[in-house]
Amino acid sequence: GKIRVYKLAEDLGLESSEVIDILNELGEEVSSHMSTVEDETADLVAEMVNEEAAEDTKTESGDDVIELETSLTVKELAEEMGEEPNSLMQELVGLGIMATINQELDEETIETVLAEYGYEVEFKTEEEEEGTSYNELVQDIDDDPEDIEERAPVVTVMGHVDHGKTTLLDAIRETNVTESEAGGITQHIGAYQVDVDGEKITFLDTPGHEAFTSLRARGAQVTDVAILIIAADDGVMPQTVEAINHAKAADVPIIVAINKVDKHNAQPERVKQELTEYELVPEEWGGNTICVPISALQKQNIDELLEMVILVSEMEELKANHDRPANGVVVEAELDKGRGPVATVLIKNGTLKIGDPIVAGLSYGTVKALVNDQGERVKKAGPAMPVGVLGFNSVPQSGDLLQVLEDEREVRKLAERRQDEKRQEDLSQKKTVTLDDLYDQIQEGEIKDLNIIIKGDVQGSVEAIKEALLQLSTDEVQVNVVHSGVGAVREADIMLATASNAIVIGFNVRPDDNARQAAEKEQVDIRTYRVIYKAIEDIRAAMEGMLEPDY
Ligand code: GDP
Repeated sequence: GKIRVYKLAEDLGLESSEVIDILNELGEEVSSHMSTVEDETADLVAEMVNEEAAEDTKTESGDDVIELETSLTVKELAEEMGEEPNSLMQELVGLGIMATINQELDEETIETVLAEYGYEVEFKTEEEEEGTSYNELVQDIDDDPEDIEERAPVVTVMGHVDHGKTTLLDAIRETNVTESEAGGITQHIGAYQVDVDGEKITFLDTPGHEAFTSLRARGAQVTDVAILIIAADDGVMPQTVEAINHAKAADVPIIVAINKVDKHNAQPERVKQELTEYELVPEEWGGNTICVPISALQKQNIDELLEMVILVSEMEELKANHDRPANGVVVEAELDKGRGPVATVLIKNGTLKIGDPIVAGLSYGTVKALVNDQGERVKKAGPAMPVGVLGFNSVPQSGDLLQVLEDEREVRKLAERRQDEKRQEDLSQKKTVTLDDLYDQIQEGEIKDLNIIIKGDVQGSVEAIKEALLQLSTDEVQVNVVHSGVGAVREADIMLATASNAIVIGFNVRPDDNARQAAEKEQVDIRTYRVIYKAIEDIRAAMEGMLEPDY
């Protein structure tokens, strides 16, 4: 959804004016604390603030109040606190809670662990549901009304395999795209725009609804209207139902195209009947679902279908501001041999121009050239226009949001920070600790704590091993015994080892079957010993990089 500037400022513990400054830096034209910004933008601001704050947090102390969601994973909570996930997991283990990095924590646990760090928690009350339409997203109450103009609807064709999506998209393109005089070849860039009696419609030309779904999964809602295509000789099929559910979840109006009506075994009435089971009742039966019988192959009734798209879009009152720095969504991207990274971007709002400094996901650059859906070079691209963008330093991912910032330095900074974050994320999800590569991990600075779980046959030897191991701590590596006890190595021990990135030592005990399987799956290192000093020696050797390979 959207968030007001003063609320964002509150969340970040800043003055509204400071947030407005940051927003302006990001190219958002915001002047009032009552203005709203998109969640994506708000996240971006938070990213920038957190980076600066990260250095300061270490010196902070005393009872601070943190505002949090009622349910967070260990990783998310660690991020909110500016702590390493590993150290947070250890803290949890200390509280007797075994949690993996992606485990959800409940309110009570969050409160308890934060108290350990000297924080107080305030839980956020349920925010309004997302499901914000693309149209709501692109409108900013702060825009100058004069700059707001109508924009073309963005349409996705969805339906079961072989029901005619590709044929329909080709038919629409062939009949409505004006081929350039020079006989230029229409380029497949993942989206195209057609002209229907002076009204433009943008089609996402990515077969299947994978694009729709994956873009949506990444938070990029781009579709205004969905055309649900159903073959009249086949009827509602599993992917038809899937498509219906996706469109409904996204709150996107559906127009049904009943295809292949030229076939002798076509049963359009049966299709309508089946649709009623999914709360799509045809208009002619008193419902409000528009159904258009077509033949994509013979190009029958395509005009009527497009008119219906225009009609439905008009009811949506689609608007955008042409006169502001662009933002958009990467629909497709590839590495072109001659031209380098090329991304098809659907402009959501504003106008993208040659020379604009751009960032999308981990990629950045300056717009070198813009290519429209007919392969022609253009100087700019406005709302709802699909355009091939040249000038990225690397290939962005589909679903990445494109933004225009102040200058090349800004976009590089943002992209590099995201790259760093991604690297850290990759690292933290990385391999578990094992004695064999412990030394390397220590040398690379990946490990500062060696966490150990000790299980043994009698309490006396467990204690003896524990004491001796703790003595092995050096300036570089702190040895921690996160758990010790009498009995076999069990699955719970492995889960704890996974959660706390620990190795397991069994003294005169062995892992049971479940534990062995879990250890294999989670790649936890279990070492079993019969002599105490041998266990100590192994750990010491591993820390010093002198461990004999154990095959
Ligand atoms: P997609 O998998 O949904 O993209 O389906 P396609 O567009 O590839 O179409 C699958 C098959 O149905 C192809 O052989 C098309 O020629 C055929 N087809 C598509 N539309 C029609 C139509 O209106 N009438 C007939 N008879 N065949 C069609």
